[in-house]
Amino acid sequence: MSRRRRNEGRFDWTASALPVWARQLIIAGCICFHALKYPSFLPPSLRNPSSNTGDMTTSESWKTLEGGCPCGNIRYRLEQKPLFTHCCHCTWCQRETGTAFALNNMIETKFVTVTSSEQPVMRYTPSLSGLGQKMYRCPSCQFALWSVYGDSGDFVRFVRGGTLDEPARCPPSIHIFTTTKQPWLILGDSVPIVEEFYDREKYWPKESLSRLEELKKSLM
Ligand SMILES: [Zn+2]
Ligand SMILES: [Zn+2]
Repeated sequence: MSRRRRNEGRFDWTASALPVWARQLIIAGCICFHALKYPSFLPPSLRNPSSNTGDMTTSESWKTLEGGCPCGNIRYRLEQKPLFTHCCHCTWCQRETGTAFALNNMIETKFVTVTSSEQPVMRYTPSLSGLGQKMYRCPSCQFALWSVYGDSGDFVRFVRGGTLDEPARCPPSIHIFTTTKQPWLILGDSVPIVEEFYDREKYWPKESLSRLEELKKSLM
């Protein structure tokens, strides 16, 4: 007779009925199950960053999203899911937006279609890096719709989250430059929080990294 005990003809799964290694295996299995099903079960440092945004949409299941400036003169459409969404708390973004942070949806330029007859106008604006940025504004209300950073070509745009018709479809993927975050703003732990910038390989979803590689190849 093994160490298994029987109680009224039924197998006893409790306590000493199982060897120590089996009990440890069951506990480890429970932890893994909860970690996969409920990411908030783990501390932020152990979570998969790309699964923390609450946005389960993939590039394949993406439905186009429209946006525009406040006066309605410029209208545009995002044909694809943004690569990654920065919630930037740097002092430059605070000044540029006139509020506590900027919400920038990074997306390939080829996936941004201007649907209005009027086109945005480009204005040079200083940036934190010193390289400046090209800000695209409505010629009528002058509101900023997107920007292109540095002196690179117009290949990836930073579309301002607040100009989307359904901004909730593009929640932040990460909070950056949080050392200058406004002290009254309390961040939850559902998305990664970094003091300054971050390693793209570590935080971007695999499909976004692939799309960026595809873009680089197309520019060669
Ligand atoms: Zn406008
Ligand atoms: Zn910023």
